[in-house]
Amino acid sequence: MTEPIRNPDIKFTQIFINNEWVNSKSGRVFPTINPCDGKKICDVQEGDKDDIDDAVSAARAAYKRGAPWRKLDASKKGQLLNKLADLMKQNISYLASLETLDNGKPFYDAEEDIVFSIETLQYYAGWADKICGKTIPVDGSFFTFTKHEPIGVCGAIIPWNYPIPMMIWKIGPALACGNTMVLKPAEQTPLTALYLCSLIKEAGFPPGVVNVVPGYGPTAGAAIAEHMDINKVAFTGSTEVGHLIMQASGKSNLKRVSLELGGKSPLIVLADANIDDAAMWAHAAVMTNHGQNCCAGSRTYVEASIYDEFVDKCKNMASFRQVGDPFDALTQQGPQISEEQLNKILGLIETGKKEGAKLEFGGERSGEEGYFVQPTVFSDVKDDMTIAKEEIFGPVQSIIKFTDINDVIERANNSKYGLAAGVMTKDINKALMMSQNLEAGSVWVNCYDILKAQTPFGGFKQSGHGRELGEYALHEYTEIKTVTINFPEKNL
Ligand code: NAP
Ligand code: MG
Repeated sequence: MTEPIRNPDIKFTQIFINNEWVNSKSGRVFPTINPCDGKKICDVQEGDKDDIDDAVSAARAAYKRGAPWRKLDASKKGQLLNKLADLMKQNISYLASLETLDNGKPFYDAEEDIVFSIETLQYYAGWADKICGKTIPVDGSFFTFTKHEPIGVCGAIIPWNYPIPMMIWKIGPALACGNTMVLKPAEQTPLTALYLCSLIKEAGFPPGVVNVVPGYGPTAGAAIAEHMDINKVAFTGSTEVGHLIMQASGKSNLKRVSLELGGKSPLIVLADANIDDAAMWAHAAVMTNHGQNCCAGSRTYVEASIYDEFVDKCKNMASFRQVGDPFDALTQQGPQISEEQLNKILGLIETGKKEGAKLEFGGERSGEEGYFVQPTVFSDVKDDMTIAKEEIFGPVQSIIKFTDINDVIERANNSKYGLAAGVMTKDINKALMMSQNLEAGSVWVNCYDILKAQTPFGGFKQSGHGRELGEYALHEYTEIKTVTINFPEKNL
């Protein structure tokens, strides 16, 4: 843990193309806001379609046969990723401070994001020269092998909830596989992505390998999704925009698409679980990152015999959660990202009350300025209430009662989403049975939110397409080429 810098200098606010800083072609800028007070931190250059075109040209040139990046040995590509990881480590205090300023997450959480991102880069650095095909024993006198080749120019569109990890989860595997990139950070949190560009340049990546264009989704983001010269797009964000990204691929050049989208993940607490541990995990599952987490365990199902005791424990934990200045070492929860999100969350809390859920704790805006929300706990939530169905993306726990283990599996699966699920039990048979039957890309047993560089992450159903992290993410950034050579023995 390092010391935060309360007022970090803002060093980079321009578009990053070809390892150079440039202004937007339109001359427009947009403000990035400090969610603690709603005031402008600074203006950032606002890229749109024309700037994306330039970034794609740079990424295409860097990908051309004979270009320095294409000629670089795979092991050297790995070394560059390790160098970037080292530079992030050296600058962790500044980088985490910048993230806290722009995003509002507690400084020590921002540091954790960066540590995870460093581990992810190191993990993919190791893969760079270990991406192998197969030799295949085909029928007839042919020798067949496969190669896993880069896809080409990859686009990435990322959200504001984990700005640094989302960027690294994409550039790590993309660059390890030899691709080049054009990335658009979220409008709310452009600053750390731009600072990371300076480290990418310092690490020695050739010009054009990574290009970052800050701007808005419907302009810069859509220009990536629709681009005829981008070969793949990786998107993290809402399911609603995920639909648009796939449509844009279909309407343009059928670029490959990977999507990591929303969720309404169930966490199921059985009566035999250690109730204190289970309550702690259930609290963290939904409150972590102010609830702004795609895999938030936002439906807490609790077996009837322990329900009342469990609700009391959750209420108690929410009452102790420290909300406030994210630069303060004791703070566990800073502001929500924006006024829009604040209002969306408060609106859903009102809907919860109106539809008959029992407000156990919180439910109000917190503080005079900024976008703070009280940690909120609802009990007596029913499956058909809006707060049990819609992604709230805020610190709001909905505790739902169940009596039958088979029934709760059906209810947990009754969602268009399928990103994650949790089970709390001491019974290994129940743990295995439930992990087998829950429709989710990740199932955590007696824990929650355990994401590692080595473990694939992604969604079933409308929570996404493809997987990030782990070896599986390499499939999202490679094309498989089959080479077949004729060698009739009669010629020998
Ligand atoms: P969003 O609109 O899906 O934003 C994610 C990214 O997509 C941002 O970079 C955004 O640009 C971009 N984008 C928006 N419209 C686009 C378009 N038409 N074409 C291409 N790119 C586009 O999410 P949001 O509006 O920030 O948040 C809304 C809700 O989405 C949240 O309440 C939450 O439920 C969910 N969400 C989920 C995740 C996740 O990790 N799965 C992350 C964030 C939000 P801008 O910078 O202009 O927004
Ligand atoms: Mg901001």
